[in-house]
Amino acid sequence: MTVYFIGAGPGDPDLITVKGAKLVERCPVVMYAGSLVPKAVIERARDDAKIYNSADMDLDQITEVYQTAFANNQDVARVQTGDLSIYSSLAEQSRRLDQLGIDWQVIPGVSSFQASAAALGQELTLPEKCQTIILSRASGRTPVPDKENLKSLASHEATLCLFLSASLIRKVVRELLDVYPENWPVAVVEKASHPEQRILRGTLATIGDQMEQAGIKATAMIIVSKVLDMQDFNDSKLYDPTFSHACRKARVTEGE
Ligand code: SAH
Repeated sequence: MTVYFIGAGPGDPDLITVKGAKLVERCPVVMYAGSLVPKAVIERARDDAKIYNSADMDLDQITEVYQTAFANNQDVARVQTGDLSIYSSLAEQSRRLDQLGIDWQVIPGVSSFQASAAALGQELTLPEKCQTIILSRASGRTPVPDKENLKSLASHEATLCLFLSASLIRKVVRELLDVYPENWPVAVVEKASHPEQRILRGTLATIGDQMEQAGIKATAMIIVSKVLDMQDFNDSKLYDPTFSHACRKARVTEGE
């Protein structure tokens, strides 16, 4: 018996992996995080599967479902939004499972920061201009360690993807304006990959008002990066005709 933690992807039921979908189809117990995982994602479950929505359950109640499934020797498909490596509560659930001697495994998913970049049609790294992506959040009811404060993260000028921060946009903007000019680009993607997906593009000066006017308060990715309006960058080495790598020999020599 195994508990499979399955990344459901960002919302579109087609964006779960084939492996994840097969497990949802097969497992006799399915528990999904109904606050963010649309029901359509688990509609592929067996007709006789026991379905639980963890949205109104606490950690003890969730653990009880795992224990009962363990006692009945039934595999569990535990379906959570995006990928389990980011803000997923995997750590606290798997710690309980380890204590109980219950096997578990993680099936990766498409994270919402990736779906948001896809919605924007945006590469989040650009050759020589930006080679780092920082995934973080604003400090709110869940505190962020002081060493990870937004101002210090912003000092790198890496692409910043902020989860769980839509309702804190004014605070985010205030902190970032200590480091960046007002015209620094920001994009917000609400409900990436859902039918009701919305995109806002603006700057640190405008994004707060734009989000307020649009009424975007949750389930949104805030992407802050100079790459968002950058056209002036060099081609990468990957397809550079003068550059050889493991899969391809240079076709022309440099300076030719
Ligand atoms: N593990 C998830 C993140 C869970 S935290 C992942 O990998 O995506 C929840 C936050 O994720 C939300 O507050 C929002 O910032 C972001 N999020 C989740 N789904 C989203 C979507 N479809 N579009 C935009 N942001 C989303």
